[in-house]
Amino acid sequence: MDPYTIFADIIAGRAPASRVYEDEDVLAFMDIRPVTPGHLLVVPKVVARNLAELDPEIGGKLFRVGQRLAAALRAGEVGCDGVNFFLADGVTAGQEVFHVHLHVIPRTPGDGFGLRARPTSPPRADLDYLAASIRGALPR
Ligand code: 5GP
Repeated sequence: MDPYTIFADIIAGRAPASRVYEDEDVLAFMDIRPVTPGHLLVVPKVVARNLAELDPEIGGKLFRVGQRLAAALRAGEVGCDGVNFFLADGVTAGQEVFHVHLHVIPRTPGDGFGLRARPTSPPRADLDYLAASIRGALPR
């Protein structure tokens, strides 16, 4: 798969973006098609197409920066009273740009944003079975 994405150009300064935060590892900028006003993207500067390719240390940094941005969204002019983090890993999960990115989405009542889902109520034995199976598959 071609590792090039528009985010690489944004990180390098070759494509425009409304930047909010930057350090040696991470860049945050406004999503060009916000689902709510103030919708941000936090990206690692190193190329990682998906979670499997992302250094966990940098992944931790994405979350830390997301936390600070959430505080800024609540405290500043955006003035939201809730925030969603969203990360799509893989086509089936809705990933469109193949450079890992954390969406930070400010929420206000009635803003129209939501996830569609059909929750189920499996028996405890099924939950325990899958818990053990997933535990066994954890990377070392
Ligand atoms: P995904 O569906 O991969 O989780 O989200 C990709 C996000 O990147 C979308 O919300 C989309 O609006 C945003 N996006 C795509 N191209 C650009 C761009 O050129 N600039 C900015 N700022 N955001 C982009």
